Amino acid sequence: MSKLNETFLSGLSDIYDAEKQLLKALPKMSQAAENESLKTGFETHLNETRQHVKRIEQIFESLDEKPEAKKCKAMKGLLEEGSEVIEKEEGDAALIAAAQKVEHYEIAAYGSLKFWAEVLDEDAAVHLLEQTLNEERATSEKLNEVAKTVSQEENEEETAESDKG
Ligand code: FE
Ligand code: FE
Repeated sequence: MSKLNETFLSGLSDIYDAEKQLLKALPKMSQAAENESLKTGFETHLNETRQHVKRIEQIFESLDEKPEAKKCKAMKGLLEEGSEVIEKEEGDAALIAAAQKVEHYEIAAYGSLKFWAEVLDEDAAVHLLEQTLNEERATSEKLNEVAKTVSQEENEEETAESDKG
């Protein structure tokens, strides 16, 4: 096995755990969202995320490897920040920003994985990673769309003096 092959497997194990962590967090994010399109957006992405997990399992299979998860500390940290936004009721604009950090982490991870799969000539993996990468990018775009409405609304919303700081 080449060094790149090991790096690829290790990266797959990292994103496998990251996606599983996200599976647990998305229902809470959907519940916390006030804006209806944001709520349904999170629900749609929950279904997509289930597919992302399955695709990673398919990739491991295509490589004749057993699916193995390795604790993704980055996703853990990002989701902790997201939970804080929810607990402190910071609102939809802040919730979208937390979700964007998650999506961009995934886009970075899948971008590298797809590139390595190309170098490794793992065509099945390339195809599966590309599908997921496209869904992550589309999700990020949709979040940007909702952010326009939500941030306008929050700009017109007065906070009580006691809420500040
Ligand atoms: Fe994902
Ligand atoms: Fe995602």
